[in-house]
Amino acid sequence: MNILVVNAGSSSLKYQLFDMDKEQVMAKGLCERIAIDGKLTHKNLVNGKVLTADISMPSHVEATRAMIDAIIDKEYGVLESMNQIDAIGHRVVQGGPWLTKPTLVNDEAIEILKRCVDLAPLHTIPHLQGIGGCTAILPDCPQVLVFDTSFHATMPEKAYTVPMVKEVCDKHNIRRYGAHGTSHRYVSAEAAKYLNKPEEDTKIITCHLGNGSSISAVKGGKVADTSMGFTPLDGIIMGSRCGAVDPAVVPFIMQKENISVDDIGNWMNKKCGLLGVSGVSTDLRDVKNAMNDGNENAALAFDILIYGIKKYIGSYTAIMNGLDCIVFTAGIGENDADVREAVINDMEYLGVKLDSEKNRNVSSLSAPWDISAEDSKVKVFVIPTNEELVIARDTKNLVENL
Ligand code: ADP
Repeated sequence: MNILVVNAGSSSLKYQLFDMDKEQVMAKGLCERIAIDGKLTHKNLVNGKVLTADISMPSHVEATRAMIDAIIDKEYGVLESMNQIDAIGHRVVQGGPWLTKPTLVNDEAIEILKRCVDLAPLHTIPHLQGIGGCTAILPDCPQVLVFDTSFHATMPEKAYTVPMVKEVCDKHNIRRYGAHGTSHRYVSAEAAKYLNKPEEDTKIITCHLGNGSSISAVKGGKVADTSMGFTPLDGIIMGSRCGAVDPAVVPFIMQKENISVDDIGNWMNKKCGLLGVSGVSTDLRDVKNAMNDGNENAALAFDILIYGIKKYIGSYTAIMNGLDCIVFTAGIGENDADVREAVINDMEYLGVKLDSEKNRNVSSLSAPWDISAEDSKVKVFVIPTNEELVIARDTKNLVENL
């Protein structure tokens, strides 16, 4: 079964084509600058050939067309005809309280998804356009929506409730939804396989540390709590997002700096975080270079990141009444040994000890990339995330039973 996984953003559309019999990616690519001019980068992973082309993409329909053309291209493609695509799985950032499981695209699902525009406009509108593009080009191909919020839907009410006036929160569907759920689900399930105990007894903390970062407590395979909230602004410091702050700071800054309601969200999402504190960059590699050159604000930004991760690990160990394993994943989590070392440093009280040598040489290890010391009570794993594979699996499971 061939499954196309699509991740549609406002001006981009990323895709991966899976051969699900082998769970292998055959081709992947990116349509960029949609509605600006249009650029396609496509890689055939069977023969290694790469196609880059400037293609006019006034909307997601043309981007979808460019993606399909590349997939069936004689030289760069991997399929002979678009009819060989058996199903499409879409990554969807927010399903709201309504959509908590993989869902087949039909008129009703689209109507419900439109309700999520209010909760996550920057993502949901492009998702709808991406789905529309696929429907226009492949009208008979089943499409499935897979939500980043689904895995967190099992959070208990005390974890997801925003403690403001309940009536107001209920009226506007204000609650903590979390994000990166597909990633937390994948890496926690992988980690659980390597802990010698039944999944229902496992207590795992997953640290998805990328440009956007979130940390989850996964108890018995279910999310007990997660650091992102109503939106991905909550939690630890991120590339350009501030994470959790005293809410009173927000109206105070709006007043003092004359920032409007329309602009404050953008300011907190794009100007704060590592960038805002360091004044250097959203990219942790740049922040670290500046720190090593003696930039004190860059060092402060790094310290805030480590401090925040440690606080979550401590509090999530407390709410789960124990800890079997910490997982690091995503751009920073998978690649930055300094971050992992600084986080795990001084955690002996919790029974966590790192093997520094292994931590520095993760690429020489094999799954699950165990970097904990022999006498560590708690395992520390570095597990590369694979959200696309989870989406492809969910899509396959749903369409197989149609
Ligand atoms: P996104 O949230 O956009 O998917 P990623 O998961 O790709 O982000 O993570 C981006 C972050 O990962 C950046 O802060 C970058 O500094 C960091 N990163 C990526 N590669 C490396 C590396 N080799 N070493 C250290 N940090 C890295």
